[in-house]
Amino acid sequence: MEEQVKVHIRVRPASQEETKSKDFRKCVEISDPQTLKLYFPRDTIRPFHFDSVLEENSTEEEVYDSTARDLVDSVLEGYHGTLFVYGQTGTGKTHTMGLLKKVTTKSEGIVPAAIKHIFERVKEGTVTLSFLQIYMENIYDLLNPTKKTLLLREDANSGIFVKDLTQVPVDDFSQAANLINAGLCNRIMGSTNANQTSSRSHIVLTLDIESTINEKTIYSKLTLIDLAGSERVRGTSSSGQRLDEAKFINGSLSALGKVICALASETSGHIPFRDSKLTRLLQPSLRGKVVMIATVGPSYASGSETISTLQFASRCK
Ligand code: ADP
Ligand code: MG
Repeated sequence: MEEQVKVHIRVRPASQEETKSKDFRKCVEISDPQTLKLYFPRDTIRPFHFDSVLEENSTEEEVYDSTARDLVDSVLEGYHGTLFVYGQTGTGKTHTMGLLKKVTTKSEGIVPAAIKHIFERVKEGTVTLSFLQIYMENIYDLLNPTKKTLLLREDANSGIFVKDLTQVPVDDFSQAANLINAGLCNRIMGSTNANQTSSRSHIVLTLDIESTINEKTIYSKLTLIDLAGSERVRGTSSSGQRLDEAKFINGSLSALGKVICALASETSGHIPFRDSKLTRLLQPSLRGKVVMIATVGPSYASGSETISTLQFASRCK
């Protein structure tokens, strides 16, 4: 049977800031396309195995081909698909998704590539887009920038859904891109430090697809998620707000880890979807195919965060 959960690692190139530091050294080495060796802490070497390990010079196209292309093909065949990026802030999650800048036809990254891929294939059918943010366990509609939080509802017919979430039918790439760009602006507005706020929330982009294949109508869902930074917040310098944010993020990331772990294991026991808004919201999609890309930095200085990212990713296998 094909595995339901695939886990990939992407190593970001060293930044100028990192390389100019006088005690810069790397703590990761890719020994084959599926193995990453971690040289951390001092004098220990640990190999970690994944579906693929994408090295520092990998292009956005290579990343798409080895992580997302099959998933999107499955969605076009009628499966639900979910892809998320996990990792410490600054390791390249938003870059990998292609959401650091406005999305245009020239953009690279998973979101623009997936939307192009979908519109190349869906000639007859409807694609509907929604875009939301989860911040401190509150859901906000990125396509309708009021401060109102949205509620999760459950009903017998449609299962779990976000009540009043804006859902917009899109006919082509540029319509989808315009909505996403508007949504990204809504995410940033209202905060004094955009990067900090964006790294403290999960953003969830969903494409609902209705199309006809071989005279059969299929309904499927592709969900693409840029998760909040996984770094641990510690020390006395953290304010109350930062600690509260961190509690919510830790809670929802660990809930996500447990759910993926349960889905990845062969046994069909209880799956704790109800432990966070994120996992409840994703419940229908997570029962389909799941891809996780864990991003790490190359430097020894971030070794302890890298270790915890690799351990989280390994548990999801
Ligand atoms: P995160 O979303 O995980 O906080 P970002 O995507 O914002 O991280 O990336 C942090 C910085 O590193 C950005 O300036 C980004 O351009 C750069 N960066 C990340 N990944 C790569 C990569 N693979 N190649 C080149 N630059 C990258
Ligand atoms: Mg980011």
